[in-house]
Amino acid sequence: MPRTDTVLADARLEPALATLGRARVKEIVVAAQDRARAGEIAPEAVADEVFASLPPTAASMRPVVNATGVLLHTNLGRAPLSAAAQDALVSAAGTTDVELDLVSGGRGRRGAGALEALAAAVPDAGGVHVTNNGAAALILAATALAIGREIIIARGEMVEIGDGFRLPDLLESTGARLREVGTTNRVHRADYADAVGPDTGMILKVHPSNFVVTGFTSSVPAGSLTGLGVPVVSDIGSGLLAPHPLLPDEPDAATELRAGASLVTASGDKLLGGPQAGLLLGEATLVHRLRRHPLARALRVDKLTLAALEATLRGPEVPVRSMLSVDLGALRARAAEVAARIGAPAEAIDCVAQVGGGGAPGVELPSAGVALPVDLAARLRGGADPVVARVEQGRCVLDLRSVPPEADERLVAAVSAALP
Ligand SMILES: *Cc1c(COP(=O)(O)O)cnc(C)c1O
Repeated sequence: MPRTDTVLADARLEPALATLGRARVKEIVVAAQDRARAGEIAPEAVADEVFASLPPTAASMRPVVNATGVLLHTNLGRAPLSAAAQDALVSAAGTTDVELDLVSGGRGRRGAGALEALAAAVPDAGGVHVTNNGAAALILAATALAIGREIIIARGEMVEIGDGFRLPDLLESTGARLREVGTTNRVHRADYADAVGPDTGMILKVHPSNFVVTGFTSSVPAGSLTGLGVPVVSDIGSGLLAPHPLLPDEPDAATELRAGASLVTASGDKLLGGPQAGLLLGEATLVHRLRRHPLARALRVDKLTLAALEATLRGPEVPVRSMLSVDLGALRARAAEVAARIGAPAEAIDCVAQVGGGGAPGVELPSAGVALPVDLAARLRGGADPVVARVEQGRCVLDLRSVPPEADERLVAAVSAALP
C-alpha cells in the first residue's frame, strides 16, 4: 500500500492541494487506500484513483447535467446562468464598487446597474427593487403594505410552492391576516369588492405556477381589480418581463402593470433565466416604500446576484430561453448523433419535455432524447460527472431539451463510462 505522504507528494495533486486544502485531499487518499485494502482497486492504482475522484472545487455541490427534460428543475438549481452571467458573477467575487461611486468617491446606489437594467427592460414600471428571492419579494410587500391588516386573496390561489412551503403561511408569518374570497374554482370581481374595507392592506393575485384548474372555473385578472382603492399586487412567479410567444397563458410583468397592477413580484431564476432573486416592479411610491422598509435590509441581494442579474438582463439570450425555443429538428439531430456515438443499447426517441415548477404548468414541449436501460439512471447519477435522467415507461431517458448543446459531449462520456 503506498504511504499517504507518498501519494500526497504526487505532482498531479499539487493544484488540488491548493484549491481543496490538504485535509480534504488526504481524506480522498485514505478512501482510495481503503478501496485498495478491500481489493476493489490495485495498490498501484491508488494515486490514479485519487486523481480521478478529486472534486472540481472545494464546495461539495457538484455540477450535473440536467437531462430530465424539466427546464427549470428546482432540485437542480433552476435556471442555468448564461456564460455572460457566470463571467460577471466571477468578476464580482473579489472587491467591487457595488456601493461606491468611483467618480466622487462617495457612497453609490447599491446595485445601480442591475436596477437600471431591470427598469429599462420593463418601461411600464415606475420603480424596481430586487430581493433575495420571489418569496422575499412577497414578504416585503405584505409586511410594508398589510402588517396587522388584511390581504384579500382568492381561495383558488392559496398555493403551495414546493417542499411544503405554502404561500398563505408565508403571508401570515408577516403579521398580515388573510381574507379569503371566492371558492376553489371560481371567484368574481364582486367577491373582492365586497371584501375591501378599512382594514384592507392589499389585494394579492397569485399565479398558480405549478398546476392548472380546468372545467367550471373563473378568476379575475389583476387589471380588473383596480379602482377598489387598495394596492393590487400580482405575484406572477415565473419572471417573464414581457409576453412570450410560446407561452401565451403565462403572465408577464409588462402586461400586468399596463393592465393596472400596482406591484408585480416574480423570481429571477425561473423563465427570466437569471440568478435566484426576487423582482419587485411597479408604482414608484410603493416601490420606494418597500425599499425604505427596515425589512428590506434583511432581504437584500449580494453583489454576486446583482452582477449575474445585470448580465442576464443586458446580455445575449439565456440558456432557458434557447431551450424553450429550440427547433425540434435540431433536437432530433442531436439525439441521433448522441445515440450513434454511444452505440447499442442507446436509441434516439421522441419525448415530451416541460418548463417545470417555475412556470407554464401543463405546457408540453415536444422534445427528443436517448433511451437507455433503466438501471443506467442510478449509475449516471453516481458517475464522476453526474447526469440526472428521467425514468419513464421502464426506461432511462436523456431528454436533450434541458441539456445545453455544448454538454452533449459530457453525456456521451458519462454514458460510455456507466455502461457495463
Ligand atoms: C416560484 C414562485 C414563488 C416563490 O419564488 P422563489 O423565488 O422560489 O422564492 C412565489 N410565487 C409563485 C407564483 C411562484 O411561482
